[in-house]
Amino acid sequence: MTTRHLIPARKGAAHRMKKGETLRVINTHGSQVVDFWAFNAADLGECMSMEHSRAAIGRIIPKVGDVMVTNKRRPILTVVADTSPGIHDTLIASCDVYRYEGLGHKGYHDNCTDNLGRALEALGLKRVVHPCPFNLFMNIPVRDEVAISFEPPVTKPGDSISFRAEMDAVVAFSACPQDLLPINGRDCVIHDAHYEILPA
Ligand SMILES: [Zn+2]
Repeated sequence: MTTRHLIPARKGAAHRMKKGETLRVINTHGSQVVDFWAFNAADLGECMSMEHSRAAIGRIIPKVGDVMVTNKRRPILTVVADTSPGIHDTLIASCDVYRYEGLGHKGYHDNCTDNLGRALEALGLKRVVHPCPFNLFMNIPVRDEVAISFEPPVTKPGDSISFRAEMDAVVAFSACPQDLLPINGRDCVIHDAHYEILPA
């Protein structure tokens, strides 16, 4: 049986992957956005890049078959399955303390930027760059061809998206703690998510 790993609500997780393994990220409760990053295991300065990937695939939302590339334009992950409605985001920066300050929050607030640093530290790694995340299950519709808004996910419990590693990689996740906007559901409740690594 495949081990199911926890991405704790409001917190991060990271994992090493070998080329050819498959990662499945699961929206266990159905409304949780997962910020997602991938790095070349041999060079953490080479990362999955949203701006380079959009140019490579010709879309702002990757679909099954699309190859995500690094900031050196090399394949790092291929989308191999998506049981969700296919709505994800590649446009929005990860949340950080400044985002919550700007929304009026007082004091420290968990955030995806710090979660990535801590998740890498838990593997004994140091963050070199902080790339724009691939925001799995995040619903940022584009209206009138240019305008965006932050909307609740359209996923249901158990929806998942899967990626094949095209190089040895370090992958990292954050169960986004954004509870001041309805991006994690209209009730603004943050949930656990999970992931699995399947052998090549
Ligand atoms: Zn976040």
